Amino acid sequence: MKRTTIQQIALALVAIAALAQPLQSAPAERPNVLLVKPVILCDDNGENPARSALPKTLADQVYTRGDLEFLYLPPVQWHYGQARRGEINLDTIVKSGHANGMIVRDPRVATLLFVSAVDGMTKPLGRGLQGGNICFVNLGAPDKMHNPAERAFVVAHEIGHCLGMIHAVNDLKVPDDVPNLQGDGPFAERLAVEGLHPTQVRTLHKSPLALPRLHFSSKDEAANLICEDQWDLPLDTLTPDNLRFELGLTPATPLPNDAQERLTLIKGKYAELSTTFSKEDKEQLTLWTQRIDQLTNPQWPMISRLPWHFAKMSATFCKGKPHTRGLHIVLTDEALKRFCQNENKALEVLIHEKLHVIQRLMPHHFEAAYQNYGYESVTVPQETAHKLNFVRNPDAPLPNWAIRHDDSLLLLATSLNTKGDDFQFIERAYPIDKTSVGQALPQTTILDDFRAKFPIRVGHDHPNEVAAHTLGRLFRVEMLGEPNDLLTRIQRTTLNEAKQSFAKLLQFPDTE
Ligand SMILES: [Zn+2]
Repeated sequence: MKRTTIQQIALALVAIAALAQPLQSAPAERPNVLLVKPVILCDDNGENPARSALPKTLADQVYTRGDLEFLYLPPVQWHYGQARRGEINLDTIVKSGHANGMIVRDPRVATLLFVSAVDGMTKPLGRGLQGGNICFVNLGAPDKMHNPAERAFVVAHEIGHCLGMIHAVNDLKVPDDVPNLQGDGPFAERLAVEGLHPTQVRTLHKSPLALPRLHFSSKDEAANLICEDQWDLPLDTLTPDNLRFELGLTPATPLPNDAQERLTLIKGKYAELSTTFSKEDKEQLTLWTQRIDQLTNPQWPMISRLPWHFAKMSATFCKGKPHTRGLHIVLTDEALKRFCQNENKALEVLIHEKLHVIQRLMPHHFEAAYQNYGYESVTVPQETAHKLNFVRNPDAPLPNWAIRHDDSLLLLATSLNTKGDDFQFIERAYPIDKTSVGQALPQTTILDDFRAKFPIRVGHDHPNEVAAHTLGRLFRVEMLGEPNDLLTRIQRTTLNEAKQSFAKLLQFPDTE
């Protein structure tokens, strides 16, 4: 009897001790993620890549109390010798990186650049932009930084600066006589769970880089997302018809001629159209994303583990069509109503849109797949796209892929045409060479063979859409068990090839 009481007391003490400890969850179960885009600087000819490492285990460990998981996108190489060798300053590198998209402008994604020298110095070091989203790391020669904890420390420490932390020695709230991520001590101890002080946890949770795995934007966030696009859709590059279409205005609606006046007016209109999700919307979307995560996690971890961020707009916005802006999937009441009537379709569309977010995060990684589909990369001057009134699809913003037909290249593009009081989409084929786009071909059947090989009905004008529609189809066949017996033999072959291709594309890179 006495022993039982002692056992009970002991158990109670263990339970109290467990309550006093912060809960330590496995990285994949944490409610926040940190998205890192690794960029490896090389010489201009692609040789001599800087030494790189993607430390995840120890970085996840030190960020345990922050409930944050590191998610690395597949590394991309940047051929820029002067930058790799530290012959130009970091500001110049950042400027070029912003211009060519190598460095992400969106403050929600960190870019981690590996170089071989910084400002002429070849010794190993890291530089993280305080409260920003850019880190430079030089791991030095292979005989340096051979301890994985040392490499993990440099990355986790510099990212810590981006997350808003300062050195412990300058931080009045963080004791600097015990090992800390921003202080001194053996690397292994600085990277221990205790290496992050509770006040540092509060700091990092204020950073835009700490992304909730599931997020529903407020009205202001939704308007901001569209008016201040950080990716590929700046408002001032939209043609008047594209603006009218997005805002739900008729083709005849006048817009101010003055650029500034027009921008103010359209920002006001976008703000009017932005709205919020109801409690029911949120519950429903939470259930659907959980179901998708469960089904896709084994084969397509990028779909399940990259965050789900949603924004809601009124039904007239872009005619209610679901699409993406930055990391967000944009939905309307109309779309949600349709989703409730057909749950499989809802899951398919959500997966389709999630792929568009992934395409935006890592465009270079899709190029080989698009070439396999039969597309070739081309450049269409913006003036030409404007003159032909091409629709600016937010998920495929540039008409930069053509298909080969006999000896020539054909650009498939959709333009906005006026039909009475409304707009209609017309897809046409234009011969294109290195420098110019020719007259649209008359309505013809020459593209039918090209279209017929894909297991999808629409979206052939851009491989971003082909990939997204195909993934949606594949999901329904492979993961929802729907039959594919209505597909032709060649379509089934295409679907099978896509299965192999997505199995590789939608994996996270190897980490240490
Ligand atoms: Zn799409």
